[in-house]
Amino acid sequence: MIERRHTHRIRVGNVEVGGGAPVSVQSMTTTKTADVDATLAQVYALGGAGADIVRITCNDVAAASGLAEIVPRSPVPIIADIHFQHRLALAALEAGVDGLRLNPGNIRKPAHIEEVARAAVERGVPIRVGVNAGSLDKDLLDRFGGPVPDALVESALGEIRLLEDAGLSDIKISVKHSHVPSMVESYRLLSERTEHPLHLGVTEAGPPPDGVMKSVAGIATLLLEGIGDTIRFSLTADPIEEAKAGRRLLEQLGLRERTGLDLIACPSCGRAEVDVVELVTEARDRLEAEGLPIQVAIMGCVVNGPGEAREADIGIAAGRGKGHLFIKGQVVRVVPEAEMVEALVEEARRLADEGVEARLAAADADTDRLAAEMAADLRQEQGDANRNEERKARVVEVARGE
Ligand code: SF4
Repeated sequence: MIERRHTHRIRVGNVEVGGGAPVSVQSMTTTKTADVDATLAQVYALGGAGADIVRITCNDVAAASGLAEIVPRSPVPIIADIHFQHRLALAALEAGVDGLRLNPGNIRKPAHIEEVARAAVERGVPIRVGVNAGSLDKDLLDRFGGPVPDALVESALGEIRLLEDAGLSDIKISVKHSHVPSMVESYRLLSERTEHPLHLGVTEAGPPPDGVMKSVAGIATLLLEGIGDTIRFSLTADPIEEAKAGRRLLEQLGLRERTGLDLIACPSCGRAEVDVVELVTEARDRLEAEGLPIQVAIMGCVVNGPGEAREADIGIAAGRGKGHLFIKGQVVRVVPEAEMVEALVEEARRLADEGVEARLAAADADTDRLAAEMAADLRQEQGDANRNEERKARVVEVARGE
C-alpha cells in the first residue's frame, strides 16, 4: 500500500484533489478553443478515455468566448490554461471555468496576479501554479544558474505567496521538467515546503513510446513515494493516449479501481505452441471492445501457462493445436486452436455475468485432469530433449578438444 503524503483538499468542479482524494487524471485538448463543437467532442472523448479533468487553452478573445459555450456543456471540469495575459484569466473565470492554470514565468506583474486571485476567490475557483522549466523567469535562471530544481521550487513558492496574500488558499502546484531526475527532485523538494496538492507531469515528454516511459518514470516514482494528487502525461500524440496512459498507470499502482481490461500475457519463448503476439493482439482488440473489468491471461504454452497465470480471472494457453481455457488456474474447457479467441471472449462475458464460482461449477472436472496430463507429457518431451545425454557427452568432448 502506498502511504500518501498529506495535502490540503481542494475542489476542481466536482472533482476533489488532494487530502487523500483519489489521484485524478488530467489531459488537454488540442483543438482550437474557438471551435466549440470540435473541442467539446474532444472533451467528451477524453472523459471517456479516463480523464477526470480537462484543460483547454484560453489564448485569445475567441478562445475565451468559446469557453463560455464549452463549460456548461462539458461532462468533466474544465481548467483554462493561461499564459501572458491576465485579462484572459479574468475572462475565463467569467466563462465559468472550474479552474485556472497560471504560468509564473510569463504573468509577472504582482498586481495582475492579485487581481486574478481575488476574482478566483469570489467564484470559489482554484488556481494551479504551473511552473515549467522551459519558461522560467529570467531572474531565477540567472540566480540559480539554470532551470534547476531549486529554481523551479522558488518560482512556485513566490507565486503562491502572491496568491495567498490576495486571500486564495485553493491552490495546486506543478514544477514540470523534461529531464526526469530533475522533475522528480523538484517535486520532492516542493513536497517538503508546502501542503498544497501537487499536479505531477514530465513536460514535453515527446511521442510514445519514449514519452510514455519518461512520464511513467517520473510520475510513478513520485506516486510510489506518496507524492502527487493529480497527474498528466504530456505526450506528442492524440490526447486520448494521454488520458488512457494516465488512467492505466493509476490502476497499475492500485491508486484507482480498474474499469477495463487488465491483460497479462507471456512474452513467448521457445516453448510457445502458438504465435503469442498475433493471438494477444486479436484477443486484446476483441476484449477491449467488450469493456469488461476483468484480468485476462494469454499464455503461449500449457506447460507453464495456467500455473503462472493462476491469479488471473480467466486465461487461455496453447498446447498441441488446442486452446486450454482456464479460470483462476483451473482448466475448464479445451477448444481447437482456431477458436481460442472466440472461446475466450465468450467465457469472459459469462464470467462477468455469472461469477467465478458458477463458471467453475459448470466445468467438467475431467477437463482439468486431462489438461494436467497433457502438460506433464509436454514437459516430459521437452525435458527429454533438454536432457539429451548423447549430445551433452559430445559437447564435453569438443570442449576438451578430443
Ligand atoms: S507461458 Fe510458455 S511460451 Fe509463454 S513464456 Fe512461459 S514457458 Fe514460454
